[in-house]
Amino acid sequence: MTNSLFETAKPILEKLQAHHFQAYFVGGSVRDYLMNRPIHDIDITTSATPDEIETVFDKTIPIGREHGTINVIYKGEQYEVTTFRSEGDYDDHRRPNEVFFVRNLYDDVQRRDFTMNAIAMDINYQIFDYFEGQQDIKHQLIRTVGNPDERFDEDALRIIRGLRFQSQFGFHLEEATFTAMLNHIADIKYLAIERIVVELKKLTNGDFVSKSFNNLKHFMAFKYIPFFKHYDITKFTLRNAMPFTTFVAFLISQQREIDANIADLKVSNNEKKRIKTLVQLIDQIDEVQTKSQLKLFVYDYGKKDILEVLSYLDELKRNRITSISPLIVNDQTVTEVAKQLPMLSKSEMDINGKDILEIANKKSGPWLKETLREVEYAIISGEVVNFKPELKKWVKTRV
Ligand code: ATP
Ligand code: MG
Repeated sequence: MTNSLFETAKPILEKLQAHHFQAYFVGGSVRDYLMNRPIHDIDITTSATPDEIETVFDKTIPIGREHGTINVIYKGEQYEVTTFRSEGDYDDHRRPNEVFFVRNLYDDVQRRDFTMNAIAMDINYQIFDYFEGQQDIKHQLIRTVGNPDERFDEDALRIIRGLRFQSQFGFHLEEATFTAMLNHIADIKYLAIERIVVELKKLTNGDFVSKSFNNLKHFMAFKYIPFFKHYDITKFTLRNAMPFTTFVAFLISQQREIDANIADLKVSNNEKKRIKTLVQLIDQIDEVQTKSQLKLFVYDYGKKDILEVLSYLDELKRNRITSISPLIVNDQTVTEVAKQLPMLSKSEMDINGKDILEIANKKSGPWLKETLREVEYAIISGEVVNFKPELKKWVKTRV
């Protein structure tokens, strides 16, 4: 059995070999391939040093040169090519003090986190599996390479990574691995929040999130993570896969009295905006009790976001986040109302501030914005048609 992504990347390994270097596929792509899951990106590990990689290939980007990673651009695609390396001591539970470039594969895979991630494969699809990774995959087990206490002591992010793999694959945590996770969880407080969030995003989106979220709670992991540490996570149940931003919004909505700063999560501005929009939407959704309120609500938040929130109705109810009026707000009513909206945004209004100033014959002021908002809502609720002469008449009676 071959795979097109490996086939496309094969010439890179062949070229390294032609220069007398060893080169293998490794990490997530080999794991996913052995699990018959779709492969998304390919990591290559090689005995060539960063300098040597750069001499072998014409187009390279030194994205992580000091850790041994060079991106090779080949036929328009980028591939991460990393020098075999082993790691020096750790003393802050997160980063090795030094990395050493080594010349053999065994030393390289030995520093990797879990047995299923430590499998290498050559261009002939021959597998190099020094830590029984294939057997663990077969038995659906997440097990550290080597002593779990040492491995989590070195880098506590591996604990969160283990739980995100559990969420993605539904695997069991091997007993000693599980115990060591529990013993070392407090060390995640030394990690950069950005690294934790990368893993949490994959975790909340996993098909088996319920299981691993329960473990996060059992380990009291959130106590050691900025932002989340302010919340009482024991009150929250997560059964369905959802985007990280949706999860955060639900948590905020559930515990509205908590005053934590989203900025502490160090997510992008877009993600912060998304979280805030969802929190507002959820605040508002309970207020919708009539058809005309629904029209304004759909106009303000848009069908797409409302339907997305409604798709988690079970989760919202279980967590006592909303008490939506199901007869007024449901998939059908929202879709129906969205279809009938006379306009989708205020840019479509057939009247503007200048028109209103002329009619009112008053100096501009805060009243103008208010009037425009009133006209906008009158159009949405069907009180007046979005047609300039009609709108002018309507405004005349108000100002
Ligand atoms: P994904 O499919 O989500 O990319 P992945 O296993 O490829 O999963 P990456 O974060 O891309 O995860 O890391 C690539 C490989 O690097 C891993 O498979 C593992 O071998 C190694 N690795 C990554 N992070 C660590 C870590 N904190 N400690 C040890 N090894 C790690
Ligand atoms: Mg990867």
